[in-house]
Amino acid sequence: MIEQAGIYLHIPFCASRCHYCNFATGGYESELAKRYVAALLSEIERAEVTDAMRHVDTIYFGGGTPTTLSIEQLDSILAACHRKFSIASKAEITTEANPGTISTEYFQGLRAIGFNRLSFGVQSFDDAELKMIDRVHNANDARAAVKDARQAGFENISIDLIAGLPEQKMATWQNNLAEAFALATPHISVYLLELYQDAPLQHRITRGELRAIDEDLTVAMYYVLVDAAAQQSFAHYEISNWAQPGFESRHNLKYWTGAPYWAFGVSAAGYDGETRWSNTRNLNEYLKRIEAGESPVAERTELSAEDKQSEAIFLQLRLQHGVNLPRHQAQFGVDVKVRYHDEIGRLQEAGLLEFEKDTMRISRAGKVLANEVFAVFI
Ligand code: SF4
Repeated sequence: MIEQAGIYLHIPFCASRCHYCNFATGGYESELAKRYVAALLSEIERAEVTDAMRHVDTIYFGGGTPTTLSIEQLDSILAACHRKFSIASKAEITTEANPGTISTEYFQGLRAIGFNRLSFGVQSFDDAELKMIDRVHNANDARAAVKDARQAGFENISIDLIAGLPEQKMATWQNNLAEAFALATPHISVYLLELYQDAPLQHRITRGELRAIDEDLTVAMYYVLVDAAAQQSFAHYEISNWAQPGFESRHNLKYWTGAPYWAFGVSAAGYDGETRWSNTRNLNEYLKRIEAGESPVAERTELSAEDKQSEAIFLQLRLQHGVNLPRHQAQFGVDVKVRYHDEIGRLQEAGLLEFEKDTMRISRAGKVLANEVFAVFI
C-alpha cells in the first residue's frame, strides 16, 4: 500500500498578536498577503515530487490565521496542490480559524472549495481571560462560530483550549471545560501554557501585574480534563488531543507516526521519511528567496537509522497506542526492553511508564512529565 503524505501550509498573518504567541506570524496587510500567496504558489509549483511523496490525503492550513486570506486566495493554493500532487478524494482538509472573524458566507465558501475540517483557537470561554491574552474574540463569538460552521456543513470541528493561564482558577477552568463539552465538537486540543522569554504575558508576570499559577494547579487542571473527557466518551488519543471515534486529526497523526509530509510557507517544517527540513522563519527572507528563485529552506537534517529509531519511540509515546514492541523490533532491529533496560526500570519505578502485553506506553502520571520521559529515549 502506498503511504500517503500530508501537506502543511503556513499562513503568517493575524488580526493582532496574542500575548503568549511564539508562532511566525505578523499583522495582515492585503498587498503583503498577495505577495505571500504568489510566493506560496511558486514554492508548491517548484516542489520536486518523488513517487513516494506524490500521494496526499491530508492538507492542513495553519498559522497565523489562514482565514485572513480570501476564499479565492485559499482556493488558488488548494488548486496548486491539486495540480502538483495526487490528492485523495476523501482527503482531510483543515484550516485553523479564529472565532469572531468569519462570516457565514466565508464558512460556506470554505466548504465550497473543499475544506472539511475546522480547528478553532478558542483558548478560553472566560471573557476576562481572553482579554488578558489579547484574543480578538469573546466567548460568545466562539459559541457562534461553531454554530455557524455547523450550519455551513462542517461536522469535523476541533477547538483548542489553554490550561494554566496566569491567575486562572480551577473553577474557571472547569467552566471552560463544561462550555467546551456543551458545544459537542468531536475534537478538543488542550495545551498547557508555556511562555517564551519575550512574550508580553511573560513581561506582565515579571513586572508583577499578573501572577503565574502554581505548577501543581496546572497539573490538577490537566487531570480534571482527562477525567471529564473520559466521561464524555472522548478517546485521549494523544497527550494533548481528545476525539470522538473517527474524528482524530489524520494530519497531526502523521507527525506522530513518522509519516511523510510536505511543508510550504515561512517557518514550515517537513519530513520525507529520510530528511527533516524547515523554511526560514523570517517572512522577508522567505519572500526574497522565493522571488529570487532560491530555496527557502533554512535547515535540513538527514536522519540516521538511530535517529529514526529513537524518534519513533518518543513520537509514539505521545499516542495512547504507545510503542508496539515486536513491530519496533521488526522495523528497527532494536529490542527496546534490552536496549533501554536501566532507563525503563527507572521510569517504571517512578510510575511514568507502563507495559501491557506487547505495548509500552506513558502512564497517567507520565503524561504531565512527558518531556522527561522522552528525554530518556533521545
Ligand atoms: S491567533 Fe494564533 S497565531 Fe495568531 S497571534 Fe494569536 S496565537 Fe498567534
